[in-house]
Amino acid sequence: MIDQIIRSKRKTIALIIQPDGRLLVRAPLRASNEAIRTLVQKKAGWIKAKQELVRSTYSPLVPKKFVNGEGFWYLGTIYRLEIVKDTHPELTLNGNFRLAKAALPKAHSVFERWYKQQASEVLTQRVQRNASQHGFRYTQVKITSARMRWGSCSSRGTLSFAWRLVMAPLPVIDYVVLHELVHLHVKNHSQEFWGKVKLLMPYYAQRRAWLQANGHTLSLA
Ligand SMILES: [Zn+2]
Repeated sequence: MIDQIIRSKRKTIALIIQPDGRLLVRAPLRASNEAIRTLVQKKAGWIKAKQELVRSTYSPLVPKKFVNGEGFWYLGTIYRLEIVKDTHPELTLNGNFRLAKAALPKAHSVFERWYKQQASEVLTQRVQRNASQHGFRYTQVKITSARMRWGSCSSRGTLSFAWRLVMAPLPVIDYVVLHELVHLHVKNHSQEFWGKVKLLMPYYAQRRAWLQANGHTLSLA
């Protein structure tokens, strides 16, 4: 029943149903397998119900085909793709995505370049705005191709963000930006950290939940 156990310096056992329905258990380093099994048995009804719910809505990732009508995320909206005979630049967004037919063989890299460009503009601007609003000092903003994390914060004050984040709604982007800005002061995910995030963004939990539920669809893969 348990698909994966991750042990760390946490204090309690958490049961997490992943987007594909697998059960992940996060446990303290010293928690016994017996204690974990007991909890999973006790929560079996809840686990099963939750797994059925997520499995009913889960669609495994299909790589983009770059065909007419296919949907692509940008700032929380899905725009349709239209392949056109000719357009300059080769990819534009105006109501829908328009891609030049000649660019089709390299469509994946054309899209990726477009997203990276947008990510750089949007994230630089959102970091500036959130930082000045709340008095944070950072060094620079970097855009990465990270797949496992949306953002990170280096000890030198560099904030890095995955370009795929620009596919998410602006409030969700602002949550990730604020999360990394707060890491400038608190490096870990302690209660102090989440307390500060909540103070600056009282409804952060909904935005975080959106990312956990939809993050896997923000992709070209
Ligand atoms: Zn963090």
